Amino acid sequence: MRISAVLLFAASVCFAQTQYDLLLQGGHVIDAKNKISAVRDVAIRDGKIAAVAEHIDPAQAFKVVNVHGLYVTPGLLDIHVHVYASTGDNEKGSYAGDLSVYPDGFTFRGGVTTVADAGCAGWRNFDDFKQHIIDRSKTRVLAFLNIVGAGMRGPKYENNLAEMEAKPSAEMALKHKGVIIGFKCAHYAGPEWTPVETAVEAGTIANIPVMVDFGTNFKERPMSELVTKKLRPGDIYTHCYSGLRNELDESGHVNPAMFEARKRGVIFDVGHGGGSFLWRVAVPAIKEGFPPDSISTDLHIGSMNAGMKDMLNVMSKFLVLGVSLDDVIAKSTWNPAREIHQDELGNLTVGAPADVAVLRLEKGDFGFTDTNGANLRGKEKLSCELTVRAGKVVYDLNGITRPDWKTLPKDYLQTGDSRWDAISPAPKKR
Ligand SMILES: [Zn+2]
Repeated sequence: MRISAVLLFAASVCFAQTQYDLLLQGGHVIDAKNKISAVRDVAIRDGKIAAVAEHIDPAQAFKVVNVHGLYVTPGLLDIHVHVYASTGDNEKGSYAGDLSVYPDGFTFRGGVTTVADAGCAGWRNFDDFKQHIIDRSKTRVLAFLNIVGAGMRGPKYENNLAEMEAKPSAEMALKHKGVIIGFKCAHYAGPEWTPVETAVEAGTIANIPVMVDFGTNFKERPMSELVTKKLRPGDIYTHCYSGLRNELDESGHVNPAMFEARKRGVIFDVGHGGGSFLWRVAVPAIKEGFPPDSISTDLHIGSMNAGMKDMLNVMSKFLVLGVSLDDVIAKSTWNPAREIHQDELGNLTVGAPADVAVLRLEKGDFGFTDTNGANLRGKEKLSCELTVRAGKVVYDLNGITRPDWKTLPKDYLQTGDSRWDAISPAPKKR
C-alpha cells in the first residue's frame, strides 16, 4: 500500500460510524427466554438490543462499560405496584392518590424498567391516570384496570357491586391495548362472587388476564374454588404467601387446590406488599415445591418502608429460600412478561427494547423482614449497579459509566452523550 492509501484507510477507520451505541462488556448474562446463563457481551443500538455474544469488538462501540463480575439481566418487570400518585381531589388514604408513589422515583434505582399498576384506576379515571402518570413517566407503566369503575378509592367504591361493570371496563381496555394489560379484582369485603365473575367477563371480552387480590376471606367463596373453578388458565392469583385465605390448609401444608390450579394454568404471583408475605407461609410452601410464577412487590408508600422495601429485596428473599439466581431472575423478567402477554419484554433477544439491569450479588450477613415483622437472615442480597432504559443509562450507582474527574479538562461540562446517556448528556451542538 502506498502512503496515501494507508492514510486514507486510517482516516476511514477513525471516522467510521461505530456500529453500536453502548457495549456492556464481560458480565454474566441471565436471559431465561434465550436460555442463556453465561458470560456474554451485550451491544445496544438505537434503543434496541443489537447483539449478544461471547466477544463483541469494543472498537465497534461508541461507549464501552466494563461489567465483569456483575449480572446482566433484562430490565426487571414488577407487575404489582401502585403508582397512581397525586395529592389531588381524591380522598385521603387512597391508592388512586396519596398511598401510591410516582414510578420513576422508585423503579430505576432497583433495576426495574417496566411496572404494571395493579388496579389503582378503573374505567372512570383511567384517562386521568394515563395523562398524569403513564404518559409522563420514563418507566414503562402498564396497568391492570380495576373492575371497580372508580378504581382503588376505598370501601365505599370497592364494595359497591353497582360500580363493577364488564362492558365499559372491557371497552376501555380495548381502547388502550398494550397499555391496559389485564383487569384487577381487589379488596372485596362481601360474600358474593360478583367482582371475580365480572372481572373474568371483562377479561374474556378484551382477551387479557385477571389479577385477583381475594379481599376478605369468606367460607361462601373459598380460595380453593376461585383458583380451581372461577379463574381461567392465565389468570393471576396475587398475594400467594399471605396466609390470609387458606394458602396453607389446617394441617400447615400448601392447599392442594393451589397445586391443582397451577396444573390448569392459573398463575401465582407474590404481591408482597404491606400485609401479604409471611415466612411461616413462604418457607413451607417453597419446601413443598410451590415457588411463585412471578415475583412482584405491591409497592406503595407503606410497603416500601416496611418489610417489602423494593423489587431486589423481594427477589433476594427467594434466594434465601433456596430458589436459584437464574430462576429468581426468570420470575422477575420473562415470566411476568409472558403473564401480561408482552413477549417483547423481559428478554435480551436481538431487536428487543434495550431495557437492561446490571446487578451485583452481594455476599454478607443480611436481614429480611416479613409483613408481620418476623426476620430471616441470609448471606446473599441483590443490588443494582446500572439500569438502562430504551438504550440509555438512567441509573448508575457507582459511576461505572463515568470518567474520573481528574482526567477531564479543568472546566469540564456534562460528560455523557445522548447516544447512550440519559443522566448527564452533553447538550446537542447547534
Ligand atoms: Zn396491591
